[in-house]
Amino acid sequence: MLEAHSSYHPCAFCLALKKACLCRNIDAVTGNVRVCTGANDSSLCNRMMSEKTDTPILFLDFDGTISERDAVDLILENYAAPAWLEREEAWRTGHIGSRECLRTQIDLVRAMPDELNDLLDTIRVDEGLLPLLETCAAHNVPVHIISDGFDRCIQRLLARASPPKLATLLRRVRVFSSHLEFAGQARWRTSFSFFPQTCGHNCATCKPALMQALNERNAPTIFVGDGLSDKYAAACADLVFAKKSLANYCRENSVPYIPYDTLHDVAAYLATLLRSNSNLQRRAIRDCA
Ligand SMILES: [Mg+2]
Ligand SMILES: [Zn+2]
Repeated sequence: MLEAHSSYHPCAFCLALKKACLCRNIDAVTGNVRVCTGANDSSLCNRMMSEKTDTPILFLDFDGTISERDAVDLILENYAAPAWLEREEAWRTGHIGSRECLRTQIDLVRAMPDELNDLLDTIRVDEGLLPLLETCAAHNVPVHIISDGFDRCIQRLLARASPPKLATLLRRVRVFSSHLEFAGQARWRTSFSFFPQTCGHNCATCKPALMQALNERNAPTIFVGDGLSDKYAAACADLVFAKKSLANYCRENSVPYIPYDTLHDVAAYLATLLRSNSNLQRRAIRDCA
């Protein structure tokens, strides 16, 4: 995915980062790849730079947080050889990072694109996504989806779940995820663009690195997640909403969090917080390592 970087001029935002250009990302609704075209681009990159510093940034996990079921787990349960469970256990116990875990698990999948699509079409999106994005839009809070999961799954679920109002709001949302493509003969290939250079955790998509890179203005950060792959993000966010295994992890590791069941809960909490005009309390220590 990074091969295009040498052939175009990054915008000021990407230049400031001096990292892989983050403007090359996927439109959540159309699935088209958006590429920033330079310093005069009136794209999201410039808009992000002009936001007020005390306006928080919302980072959302996708699988199990926006989607009601984890798309990757569902694919593996239905179409992978049983050895995928051993890889899962190796990741869960910290022996391998999520990048190696996902790459080797997807190597075990045998399915045709139609089979994968039919399976993805059984997964629903949390209906609280609409009020959550409405609240964020009303208060100019930027929203990013950061996911270890796959672009193909995210695009399909969001496109199918999009009433016109949600589709419009999703146009403001940037998606950073792993990449999945059909390799022929029922096999699938993965690649990991954020970030290809090794992070300390060997993530598929390094959430803390993205949260830092997308927050040049040092704005307060809010993270919403559900799983173990969110633990590094939760450790460095100023405000964490957690459920399921992420809530367990936060509890066991003394990471402060707000429990939630659906994104309706998150939307309601944030609406009150943002209306109150009080700045989000910064965490004294951020553990983004
Ligand atoms: Mg998740
Ligand atoms: Zn990482």
